[in-house]
Amino acid sequence: MKYIKEFRDGQLAEKLALAIRQEADPDRRYHLMEFCGGHTHAIFRYGVQDLVPENVEYVHGPGCPVCVLPVRRLDDAVELALKANVILTTYGDMMRVPGTKQKSLIRAKAEGADIRMVYSTQDALRIARENPQRQVVFFAIGFETTTPPTAVAILQAKAEGLKNFSVFCNHVLTPPAIAHIVNAPAEPGERPVKIDGFLGPSHVSSVIGWAPYEPAARDFRKPVVIAGFEPLDVMQSTLMLIRQINEGRHEVENQYTRVVTREGNRKAQRLVDEVLELRRTFEWRGLGYVPDSALRIREAFSAFDAEKRFALSPKESREVKSCECPAILRGVKTPTECKLFGTVCTPDNPMGACMVSSEGACAAYWSYGRKAEVVAATAKGAAA
Ligand code: SF4
Repeated sequence: MKYIKEFRDGQLAEKLALAIRQEADPDRRYHLMEFCGGHTHAIFRYGVQDLVPENVEYVHGPGCPVCVLPVRRLDDAVELALKANVILTTYGDMMRVPGTKQKSLIRAKAEGADIRMVYSTQDALRIARENPQRQVVFFAIGFETTTPPTAVAILQAKAEGLKNFSVFCNHVLTPPAIAHIVNAPAEPGERPVKIDGFLGPSHVSSVIGWAPYEPAARDFRKPVVIAGFEPLDVMQSTLMLIRQINEGRHEVENQYTRVVTREGNRKAQRLVDEVLELRRTFEWRGLGYVPDSALRIREAFSAFDAEKRFALSPKESREVKSCECPAILRGVKTPTECKLFGTVCTPDNPMGACMVSSEGACAAYWSYGRKAEVVAATAKGAAA
């Protein structure tokens, strides 16, 4: 398949691995944060970590849209779903994420809430048209990649005069998160996260372009390479980062040239800007409150804002005890450092978003082999 097969070529991978080994300085360590869950999965699925030298370390970042949604907002979605007359529409990955007291949307559905899994905002609009007596809420999550369809749905609902459609908007932005990760002090008792450069978001950058990362690269002196999601993309981007670090440069470079431009998709940006505006602050799982890091619905479209249409109660939201998702999203722990990984917490019985989501780091570790290491280590511990 064009644009896939050639980016999984074994011989090219060997050449890139050789170039990385030749250019990586053995006297230093390279801590490279892959921002997106898609990168984490490529690294594990294709064994990229095993192809690079030991002193090149991938640090998993917060770029999993399901994972970064804080428990409080998930609890709000559960509350919305349980309201009489509401149909909550959501992407599939959100269904099994445990909220406070492990209450997920799927559990709310078992209690009688009308929650429907959708593949796009167009499905949610269709459900609203088919159910004019019911209130249909679209649970909007995700980074800049998924904001244009949300904006289009709101514009379409307004144009059609749909009175029973609204959006619970939880869209977040990647450049402020990168700045926050570099800038935020370590949590008490935690080791500080070491980052020498970023494998930058790919699909997100197809919408916003790569220019928005320039301030963070310049101000924090951390190179960023916009990297595609195929294994050779990740390896080539790794080589580009190593070169920048060796040369003391801290620029934004674009490896994913077949999709991303400096300006991004101007039409999509205009649509988003017409309907959505910056929130002054927003909570992220793991990162806490990050200034200017999320979007909300503009006043002109407030009729479609579920937060204004429905009263939501204040909550004492809590993560599942011992789940290390927040530390994993900050890059300070790996999934195998969570004592629940592979024992209590598995994809069949997830304790946190990082194991539920197809882009979560715990799901990547489980799916592509680290499970075997943990099972062996656990067995060894039990035998000792
Ligand atoms: S393994 Fe499960 S409990 Fe542990 S951090 Fe990952 S999602 Fe949370």
